[in-house]
Amino acid sequence: MSGGSDARGPGHDLSGGAPVVVVSGGSRGIGRAIVERLAAENYRVHFLYRHRDDAAREVAGSVAASGGYAVGHRCDVTDAVAVDALAAEIAGNGVYALVNNAAVLRDGLFLLMDEARWDVVLETALTAAYRLTRTFLRPMMDARRGRIVNVGSLAGVIGQEGQANYAAAKGGLHAFGKALAREVGRFGITVNAVVPGWVATSLTEGLGEKRTARAIAGIPLGRFARPAEVAGAVAFLLSERASYITGATLRIDGGLGS
Ligand code: NDP
Repeated sequence: MSGGSDARGPGHDLSGGAPVVVVSGGSRGIGRAIVERLAAENYRVHFLYRHRDDAAREVAGSVAASGGYAVGHRCDVTDAVAVDALAAEIAGNGVYALVNNAAVLRDGLFLLMDEARWDVVLETALTAAYRLTRTFLRPMMDARRGRIVNVGSLAGVIGQEGQANYAAAKGGLHAFGKALAREVGRFGITVNAVVPGWVATSLTEGLGEKRTARAIAGIPLGRFARPAEVAGAVAFLLSERASYITGATLRIDGGLGS
């Protein structure tokens, strides 16, 4: 496994064993890159996914092949009962960090956006983060150490047409993290957000050539981010090097939001 001591989280030093990290939406895209990066840095990773068992198996297999530890859990984060059951399974191991990454898109112009589209986006990206955080914060408070990283979006900072639901969810997620950071800092817990602009995943694959070209034209670095570039920022926020950073939003947007 890779990862020098300075790249590791404080949990590596205190417990002797590898610290446990929970990542929601870890079977594809950015979440998968986060799982692989953290496993390579010697964390024991539990990731959640909604229904694509084959994708989850592939992630766990690729991590195991590189000598890391990652276990996938089929758990719909919008289902409170399923999250409670999962918590009972994982939380006993102590949890060092939580990465709230799961999200879905249901884009549409606002006047055509019915409540179902609004609700599922808010439920997946915002309410689920509340639910998972409430679940895994307790073991962190007991241990007097912990890290929470929320995967936000530039849409939640500067807005994006056709994404009133998603922008509301992500803006809410950023604000949620800032408020929580003030509340739990005294327990040695940090709460931060990484805020991607455009990232090359299945979420952006469906944009079409024209929209993709228009999006890229507006990015100072002239390309979409790779999922691994977001994962690197998450690993940094979990590491000792980020020990005095909390309540922050770290933009990984190629300069788009500057
Ligand atoms: P993907 O669509 O590629 O992957 C989404 C992941 O979330 C999958 O593992 C999926 O599991 C899981 N998921 C979705 N809904 C649920 C649910 N209800 N319960 C449990 N798991 C769920 O997304 P990305 O990798 O592109 O995005 C990851 C994060 O990054 C999101 O928060 C997104 O908002 C943010 N982001 C992405 C950007 C981009 O350009 N891609 C830009 C800015 C932010 P399954 O496959 O089983 O459904």
